[in-house]
Amino acid sequence: MSATSHVAILGAGPVGLDAALACADAGWPFTVYEAADAVGAHVRAWGHVRLFTPWELNVSHRMRAHLTDVQSDGACPTGAELVAGLLEPIAELPELKGRIRYRTSVAAISRTGLLKHEQIGTQARAAAPFTLLLDTPNGENTAKATLVLDCTGTYTHPNTLGDGGIPAAGERALDHRITRTIPDTTHRTRWQGTVLLVGAGKSAQTAARDLAALPDTRLVWVVRSPAPDWGVVPDDTLPARQELADTAEALTNGTHDRVTVHTGTHVQSLTPDTDRIRIRVRLATAAGPHDVFADHVVSLTGYTGDHTLYRQLQIHECYATGAPMNLSAALLAASGTNTDCLAQPAPGIDQLRNPEPDFYILGAKSYGRLNTFLLRTGYQQVDEIVAAHTGSDGAPAAEVATAP
Ligand SMILES: Cc1cc2nc3c(=O)[nH]c(=O)nc-3n(C[C@H](O)[C@H](O)[C@H](O)COP(=O)(O)OP(=O)(O)OC[C@H]3O[C@@H](n4cnc5c(N)ncnc54)[C@H](O)[C@@H]3O)c2cc1C
Repeated sequence: MSATSHVAILGAGPVGLDAALACADAGWPFTVYEAADAVGAHVRAWGHVRLFTPWELNVSHRMRAHLTDVQSDGACPTGAELVAGLLEPIAELPELKGRIRYRTSVAAISRTGLLKHEQIGTQARAAAPFTLLLDTPNGENTAKATLVLDCTGTYTHPNTLGDGGIPAAGERALDHRITRTIPDTTHRTRWQGTVLLVGAGKSAQTAARDLAALPDTRLVWVVRSPAPDWGVVPDDTLPARQELADTAEALTNGTHDRVTVHTGTHVQSLTPDTDRIRIRVRLATAAGPHDVFADHVVSLTGYTGDHTLYRQLQIHECYATGAPMNLSAALLAASGTNTDCLAQPAPGIDQLRNPEPDFYILGAKSYGRLNTFLLRTGYQQVDEIVAAHTGSDGAPAAEVATAP
């Protein structure tokens, strides 16, 4: 890093904050841009959910070095506990003081003076700083940086619920009535009546478990796969993850009188029906369509990061996962049939690099559609960036004054 370098970190989630600590430790000038008015906004949105990884896996070595009294045992925190016990204390460290710009959303990023198709894949692009277009409480302005770490996560960009991943007919018009985050069932009256749930991953399994426990809720669970394996990991070392898969399996086997699970099924259309929604599904077991009348629709079909931010940069995304190409290829090659996120290989810097020099996608967003990302992996990614850029001269210059 040169004396005139400046790092822009997009997002103050766990990985963005770890990257900020890494910059502080390395003595690199940096700014964190956070769209919300506090750190960990996405984690707060699922604050009622308990992580399946324990504290010891959720705290990076940097965080532990800065917060000597941070919990670091085998208990699994909720999202809210992770925010209160880890993310907020980090944001309050003197090293990060004044470095996080809240309510500042990065809307777009360019290479100053260069269009996307110019200097294709060359280091010449690195000679020009990045320009960031910012949405702030005082309107739009811009900032410059020479190294950009996009840690903006995925949780506010949910996938839709129709067949093959596109919206089902009528879904877009009813978007305001569809819940796309994990229900907080401590507000049990909120979920009275019939809930139609779509999805099969860990978020859907969590929702199914919690909704099935509500006495005044009838759950209809639509699962695309005819024989879901629920992501079971043989001899799972994470009991909370195993428990989710076991519960999903039990619900599918018809052990619960208020729960119906339709496997091999997809949603065809959604239509308003007074204060309910009529959902037409195509069942594996019937020739014709089947209608469900639901009071609530919960779609948990995964999340994918906002790719529009770097549309004007040279980013090579995998056509299958949407993750950066090199990382995606490494993950797909390593995964095979292994669904255990704990068994993933540590990312190397070559997997993290993009054709656009000095621009990295880190954290949950770096996995595209893949749902095996763990915090531990994000912290390893930060280690790789620090190692690759320490002592280098080609990285970011001090932030240039913002323009009105
Ligand atoms: C329900 C759930 C449970 C999970 N459980 C586990 C678990 O048990 N163990 C585990 O290791 N992982 C778990 N994960 C996966 C992963 O660790 C989390 O998604 C984690 O929050 C990812 O951290 P992150 O820093 O990459 O992104 P995020 O936490 O998503 O943070 C991104 C931040 O960027 C901000 N932002 C977004 N857009 C912009 C923008 N344009 N400009 C500026 N700021 C922006 C957001 O406000 C947010 O603060 C879970 C995920 C979910 C959804």
